[in-house]
Amino acid sequence: ADTLLSVDSLAVRFGGNEDAFLAVEDVSFDLRAGETLSLLGESGSGKSVTAQAIMALLPRNAAITSGRIVFAGEDLVSLPRSRTRDLCGTRMGMVFQDPLTALNPVFTVGDQIAELFRVRQGLDRRAAWLAAAEVVDAVGIPDARRRLDAYPHQFSGGMRQRLVIAMAIALKPRLLIADEPTTALDVTVQAQIMELIRDLQRETGMSLLLITHDLGVVADVTDRVAVMYAGRIVETGPVRDVYDNPAHPYTRGLMSSIPSLEESPGLLAAIPGMPPNPKERPSGCPFHPRCAFARPVCSVERPALRAMGDRRKAACHFAEEVVRLDPVS
Ligand code: SF4
Ligand code: MG
Repeated sequence: ADTLLSVDSLAVRFGGNEDAFLAVEDVSFDLRAGETLSLLGESGSGKSVTAQAIMALLPRNAAITSGRIVFAGEDLVSLPRSRTRDLCGTRMGMVFQDPLTALNPVFTVGDQIAELFRVRQGLDRRAAWLAAAEVVDAVGIPDARRRLDAYPHQFSGGMRQRLVIAMAIALKPRLLIADEPTTALDVTVQAQIMELIRDLQRETGMSLLLITHDLGVVADVTDRVAVMYAGRIVETGPVRDVYDNPAHPYTRGLMSSIPSLEESPGLLAAIPGMPPNPKERPSGCPFHPRCAFARPVCSVERPALRAMGDRRKAACHFAEEVVRLDPVS
């Protein structure tokens, strides 16, 4: 299938002068039409910043310092911000962790969703209202037409996230970016929301960029994963290959710390230590202070992200050894 989104050597700097640091460095990946890619990593790994860079939602103190982000043939980095914001309203949709940040408490959900159709598609009031009812129905909210008159606080957390998804997909985007879309929800509802996103993707053929720290959420949904650590991609490949035979010690640590799907406390309990402060990243391989496989070269030489066969890459000097280890129990 055709490449819809191509991120190439992206770097994002935060702060200025002595305070500056790179939150994202040399990040590259492609997303094909209809495909799902999951960016996995702890908070602070750069995965949300990558999404914000794509959507032109970086905070004021952040800037893209190098790289290209090509979406449907247009380089978003060189476009005026207003044009990117426009694309983000129509051809890309975004779902955030907390539905309340995306919904306005003082307007009914019908008003909020119908406004999208009025402003972006020029529908009249009545047509916009009908379109809103249709999309609210499509995300599985019962009795959609009547519920349009309700305010966000009158819905449960799960139903509110369905409304946010309705707004994100209302204009039939080609790309949906979901940043921790289920983290604020309880486990049963999490599964329902992921199923909804998957169904919508199947119906519409949109691509999905899923950002999460939760490996359990990803397993059934995604085609490929890219694991981020300290602002860089450290491993990427088809989800089954990466899960069954991680080639990077950090990924291996993540896998062995997956709790059962029912509980997700202490995701990283199996990896000692903390992710580095982005202003003082370790020399050589940034994972070396936490790595059970580290050897002297690791604190000196940064491993490049390199190909391991056709579809996988890993940034570890000893990836060939790591990938051959027994499966993570
Ligand atoms: Fe560990 Fe060295 Fe590989 Fe880094 S390069 S992940 S420190 S073995
Ligand atoms: Mg985040």
